[in-house]
Amino acid sequence: MKQNIAVVGAGISGLCTGLALAAKGNTVTIYERDIEPPEGGADQAFFEWNRRGAAQFRHPHAFLGVMCNLLEKNYPDLIEQFWEAGARKMSFRDMLPPELLLQYEPEPTDEDMWMLMCRRATMETVLRRYVESKHNVTINNTSNVVGMTTSGTSEDITLTGLEVQVDRGDIEQVSHDVVVDASGRGTNFPAWLDALGSRVTTEDDDADIVYYTRHYQLNPGEQEPSRHNKERSAGDLGYMKYGVFPGDNGHFAVIICLPNHETELREAIKDPDQFDDICNAIPGLKPWVSPSKSTPTTSSFGFGDIHATWRHFVNDGIPVALNFFAVGDSAVRTNPLYGRGCSTGTIHAHLLARILDEFTDPVERALQFDEETENELRPIFSASLIEDKRGIKRAVAVLEGKDIEDTGGLKNWLKAAFGDAINSAASEQLHVLRGAMRTFNLMEKPGDFLKDNKIRWTILRYMLRGRAKNNRARFQRGPKREQMLDIAEPQRNPKAA
Ligand SMILES: Cc1cc2nc3c(=O)[nH]c(=O)nc-3n(C[C@H](O)[C@H](O)[C@H](O)COP(=O)(O)OP(=O)(O)OC[C@H]3O[C@@H](n4cnc5c(N)ncnc54)[C@H](O)[C@@H]3O)c2cc1C
Repeated sequence: MKQNIAVVGAGISGLCTGLALAAKGNTVTIYERDIEPPEGGADQAFFEWNRRGAAQFRHPHAFLGVMCNLLEKNYPDLIEQFWEAGARKMSFRDMLPPELLLQYEPEPTDEDMWMLMCRRATMETVLRRYVESKHNVTINNTSNVVGMTTSGTSEDITLTGLEVQVDRGDIEQVSHDVVVDASGRGTNFPAWLDALGSRVTTEDDDADIVYYTRHYQLNPGEQEPSRHNKERSAGDLGYMKYGVFPGDNGHFAVIICLPNHETELREAIKDPDQFDDICNAIPGLKPWVSPSKSTPTTSSFGFGDIHATWRHFVNDGIPVALNFFAVGDSAVRTNPLYGRGCSTGTIHAHLLARILDEFTDPVERALQFDEETENELRPIFSASLIEDKRGIKRAVAVLEGKDIEDTGGLKNWLKAAFGDAINSAASEQLHVLRGAMRTFNLMEKPGDFLKDNKIRWTILRYMLRGRAKNNRARFQRGPKREQMLDIAEPQRNPKAA
C-alpha cells in the first residue's frame, strides 16, 4: 500500500527518510521551517545559508562508514554528486598511521570502510538537491509545523495530518496517512502528545561537555599536513579533547571539547585569537593552523547542552500514537564527539521505510519500529553513554589531580588497563585497528571486534606486557592543564607568558 507521508524537518534524517520512503513508491512531502539553500556550490551553502533550524549546521561533521555505505548501496548516483561538489573519500588505507601502512594487506571488508569528507553544508545541499530531483518527493520550505491533527481518544491517538504555517502566514491543515517527526533535538511532538494525554517517556543524560569549533581554509598552494606526522591531529590531553575535521575544497575545521567545569578555558576559547593560541600549543594541531598553512574563515563558536537522549514511543507494549514515527535526533541522540548522529539517523530512516513497506497494520508498524530501533540503535546509544560517563569521571579526576583508576578500586583499574591495551594494540597491530575502526564506523555493533579470537589474544598479550607501556597510547603530547591555562590567559601568570 503506497501512502501519502509527511516528514517534518529537512535535516539529514528528514532527507534520508524522504529518499528511503520515495524509493518504496510512497508520495512524500517534507515540511521545513528554514529557507532553501542559496544557489551555487559548497561555499555559498556554508557561508550564506541561514540555517537557524539546525544550530549544529556549521559545526564539522564526520560521516561514518555505515552511512556512506548505506547511501552508496541505495543511491550510487548520489555519491557521484558528492565528488562533483568537492567532497573526498577517505578509505581505510588512508586512515592508517605510517607504522601500520607498512603492514597493510587489503581485506575484502576494507572496501566498505570509507568516510565522506565534506562540510555538513555540502552534505545537506547535495543530499537535498538529489531528494528534490525525485518525482515523488516535495520539499516545502519556510513551512513551520505548529501542530498535528488527530483522531481518537487519549487511549488511541491516531495522527491524521499537520498544522502548517507557511511564511509566518495563516495556519493550514494538511492530511497525511503517516507523519514522520524528523524535526531534531527540539521536537515539539512529545509536548503535543502530552497535551493530549499520551506520554512520551525519555531517558536523558547530560554529557557535561561543551564543543567549540573554528573553520580554516588552506592558503593557496598549501596541502594538508602529512598524515604521516607522528603527532596525531585528534587526541586527548586529559582535560581537553581535540580534532581536525578535513572538509571539502581546502576547508577544514578544528574542534575542541571541554568539560563544563573548565570555565576558564571555556571563556578563553570563545576568543578566536585565544582559540588559535591553544591550537598552536598542541603539537598535533599546530601544523594545520599555523598562519603560513591556513587562514581562519570563521570565528570560534560553541555548542553546549549536550545530552544523550532516548525517547520511547511505545509504553508497556502500547504505542503513544498511531501513524506517527520519530526518526533521527527527535528520537535518539548521542554525544556529537563520537560523530554518530547522522549515521544513526540514516539507519533509522531506512529502517522505518522498510517497516512501513513490510507491515500495513498501524499497531504492528509501531511495535515493529520500536523493537527494531532497540535492536539497531540501542547498542550504539549504550556504548556512547558508557563513554560519556567514563569521560565525565576522567575529567573530574584530572581536575582533582588524580588518575581515574586511583578513584575506583580494582574494577576501574582493570577497565582502564584493558582500554589502554586496546588503544596500544590498535596503534601497532593492523588487525586490531581494523576491528576498532569497524566499531568506530558503526560497521558492526560496538565492541563486536573483541569477539574475534586473534584480536582477543593480541589484547591479552598487550595487557600482560604491563600498563606503563600501554598507557602512552592514551594521551597525546601537549601542554599540561596548568600550562594551557597560562597560554589561554597570559594575564593569569605573566611570568609564564
Ligand atoms: C556540535 C555538533 C557536532 C556534531 N557532529 C556530528 C558528526 O561529526 N557526525 C554526525 O554524524 N553527527 C554529528 N552531530 C549530530 C548531528 O548533527 C545530528 O545527529 C543530526 O543532524 C540529526 O539530524 P536530524 O535530521 O535528526 O535533525 P536536524 O539536523 O536537527 O534537523 C531537524 C530539521 O527539522 C527542522 N524543523 C524543526 N522543527 C520544525 C518544525 N516545527 N517545522 C518544520 N521544520 C522543523 C529544522 O529546521 C531542521 O532542518 C553533531 C551535533 C552537534 C550538536
